[in-house]
This record gives sequence, C-alpha cells and structure tokens, in this order.
Amino acid sequence: MIVMKFGGSSVESIEAIERVAGIVAAHAHRHPVVVVSAMGKTTNRLLAIADEAVAGRRDAAIAQLRELEAFHLLEGGSLDGAVDAHFAELTELVKGLAILGELTPRSIDAISAFGERLSSLIVVHAFQRLGIDAIHQDSRDYILTDERHTHAAPLYPETYARLRSGLMPLAAKQVVVMGGFIGSTLRGITSTLGRGGSDFSAAIIGAGIDAEEIQIWTDVDGMLTCDPRLLQGVHRIKQLSFSEAAELAYFGAKVLHPSTVLPAVEKNIPVLILNSRRPHVDGTRIVAQPVPCANPVKAIACKQNITSVHIRSTRMLMAHGFLRRIFEVFDQNQTPVDMVTTSEISVSLTIDNTQHLERITEELRSFSDVAVEPDQALICLVGDSVATTSGIAGRIFQSLNGTNIRMISQGASLLNLSFVVAGKDLVSAVRALHQELFASLDPNIFERASQ
Ligand code: ADP
Ligand code: ASP
Ligand code: MG
Repeated sequence: MIVMKFGGSSVESIEAIERVAGIVAAHAHRHPVVVVSAMGKTTNRLLAIADEAVAGRRDAAIAQLRELEAFHLLEGGSLDGAVDAHFAELTELVKGLAILGELTPRSIDAISAFGERLSSLIVVHAFQRLGIDAIHQDSRDYILTDERHTHAAPLYPETYARLRSGLMPLAAKQVVVMGGFIGSTLRGITSTLGRGGSDFSAAIIGAGIDAEEIQIWTDVDGMLTCDPRLLQGVHRIKQLSFSEAAELAYFGAKVLHPSTVLPAVEKNIPVLILNSRRPHVDGTRIVAQPVPCANPVKAIACKQNITSVHIRSTRMLMAHGFLRRIFEVFDQNQTPVDMVTTSEISVSLTIDNTQHLERITEELRSFSDVAVEPDQALICLVGDSVATTSGIAGRIFQSLNGTNIRMISQGASLLNLSFVVAGKDLVSAVRALHQELFASLDPNIFERASQ
C-alpha cells in the first residue's frame, strides 16, 4: 500500500484532477490511498468569507460563498446534490457567524474543513467516472485529534487503531480517497491539523496503514535548493535525510509541512516529493539514513516578515534569572520564539507572530531596554554535515560580503546554520549564497537546473 497526497494546485480544476487520475491509475497495483487538499485556494477563500461574516459584512460574505459554490459546481458538478447540500450547510454556518460576530477556533475549523470535504467528493467522483474503482472515506472518522482547534494534534493510538481496522481492509480492495487537513475530536467535533496540514494527514495515514511509501505530489519537481519563488535556477535535490527535510520544513520550505516527517520516521517509511504536472521527474526521496554528499549545504530555507527583538539590561550583569524573566514574558503572551542569540547582558530573538508584541515590549521594558526591528528575514542553511565541515562559515560570510548580518546561530542543531538579515537584503543575500554553495554540485545528490 502507498499513500498519494495531492496538494491544492494539483486538484485546482477538473483538468488537474484528470491528470491526477492518470497518475493514480498508473499506481493502482500498489493499492493507493489518495489524500487531497482543498481545490486551489479554497481554504484561503473560506477563511476570508468567515472574516467578512464576523465583521458584519454578511451580504459580501454570502456573495463570495456563491462564487466559491459556482467554482465547485463548474469544476466538479453537482454530484447528485451533494455539492449543493454542502454549500447550504456552509451558508447556514456563515449566517450564524454574522449574527454572533465572533469567530472561535472551533468555528474556523468547521468552515475551513469544507474545502477538503468538497474536494475529496469531487475527486472520487471524477475517478469513478474515469473508470478507477474508487471509494470515498471521511477523514473525520479516522483522524482523531485533541481539542486544539486550528492546530490540533493527532491522538495516535486511537487514530492508528481506526486506520488499521477500518481503512486497511478497504484499501486492499479499492482506491480510497480522503480529504487531508481535517479530523475530529473524541467528542465528534470537526478539527484541523493547521495550515498546510494535508501533508501531515498523508503521513499519519501512511504510518497507520504501514504504507511502503508516502508520496507528496505538488507543483514543483521536489525539494529544491531554494524556494523557486525567491530565486531562479534552483536545483532539484534527489535525496535527503528525514532530519534534513524536517529542518528545512521548520525553517520555511513550505513544500513540506513540518510535522510530516514525524510519523514517517517512526515507522521508517520513505517520503517522496513529486510534481503532478511533470510526473516523469524522479522528485526527491526522503529516507532515514544520512546521505553522503560532497556539498555540505543541501538547501537554503527562508522565513520572511519576521521581527527581531533586542533586549539589554546592564542591571543584569552578573545576576541570574535574566533569561528566565525574558522567556516568561513571551510564554505568558503565547508567542513562540524562533531564534535566540545571547551575551551576558543582552539577548536578541526573533518572532513570527506579532499579535502581542506591544504587551511584550511593555513588560520587557520594566526590567530592560528593548529595541524592535520589523521586516527582518531568517536565512537557514541546512545539511547533515554543516556543523562538521571546516571552513564553511568562512565561505558563507565571505560570499555575503556587504550584507549586514544581524544575528547568527549555529550549534543548537548540528544540521543548520542560520542568520538574520534585513528583509530588503534577503534576495541578494540568498542569490550570493546560492552561487557560492551550489556552483559545483554532487551529481549523486543534485539534478542541475536546466536553464
Ligand atoms: P501544495 O499545495 O501542493 O501543498 P505548497 O504550496 O504547500 O503546495 O508547497 C509547494 C511550494 O513550496 C512551491 O510552489 C514552492 O514555492 C514552495 N517552496 C518553498 N521552499 C521550497 C523548496 N526548498 N523546494 C521546493 N519548493 C519550495
Ligand atoms: N487546505 C489546507 C490549507 O490550505 C491544507 C493543505 O492544503 O495542506 O492550508
Ligand atoms: Mg502544502
């Protein structure tokens, strides 16, 4: 058995879904369980509709919902009234939100789950029409989660038990199609695994049915040496270790959701990243063993729009408890910290979520001087041997000659070296690094870009 996950752009239209059907048919002998994302940008659109509704713009929300319905009917058809019935339910939900004027995480999940509920139905019908012996299963009957709506965590023993007893026998006989991203709590309330979570669903299902492979089909040729939206001429990485892939995902390589590798690692199931528009390309194979490579850095990941907070307190010289006090402030304001650099009396750190920044700075100012720098970017170089290759830091910083580097961190993880630059310097810095690090390529690991 294998799991084949297709992302939003791979199922964005009926033509795209027909392409997917061709790919699935070619793998039919391997007993695929197909996991699909919402069609195109549906999740974003559903969330925007919910925002309109609670902001009191009920009519605008309903009008946008009608557009989304027309899109699904055009691409998928009515499916004997199933699509219409889903939109009728969704309309009631949106009207309810407009009356309440409040959006709770639980209602966000109720709304955003419709994307995958609809796409999975549309995909299974297309498969059946095209002659694939396919059956639909509701992911909410299998993926059980805790109650942290909008970023729920799977309850593994319960989920694996259901997948094993319920899904495995079905998948042995037919192609099963399921929505990614969604699950339900033990009380039966719809939950979601967080944005981009369909990759995670695929990995959970793969681990639950002891799949021999988890395939993530997307809109790029695999894991590339850098985000192609940032830089042209980036190269395909043929093989990566689980830990390298996880590190890249944590630090912003959106092609893989950061949690995806956890269930795969646990069951030692290889993960493949493949392009649904170019299925003949081999993609990227992610495996447990480190992969020997002549290039110490395999890829560059970036996070944009981050904020640096610089905290300094001369009063804390020789005193203890400074770091504890700082982190308590971030903790009490539910704000995760990404990167930290410290000296005796100062600490610099970066955050992604600035929702509570004003309160944080106010509280920090009660015992230190605080400076905030918005519009920063985090650059992270990843490779199994980054920490053990001598001279690598010299090469990196030499190539960045002229770029002001604000914070540097190496060591916390042996496979990355990260630093912060001003947002405006990001593209030039990444271009310079890419040129330096990938001028020569180990042909066993990389496929050079064709241009
Ligand atoms: P899907 O809808 O299939 O889940 P995503 O949009 O979530 O697809 O992820 C694919 C995108 O990830 C690519 O289009 C690319 O812009 C982005 N990306 C970021 N970093 C990388 C990288 N290192 N390699 C490949 N893609 C990357
Ligand atoms: N549809 C969800 C999202 O857009 C999940 C996914 O596509 O992975 O975040
Ligand atoms: Mg994705």
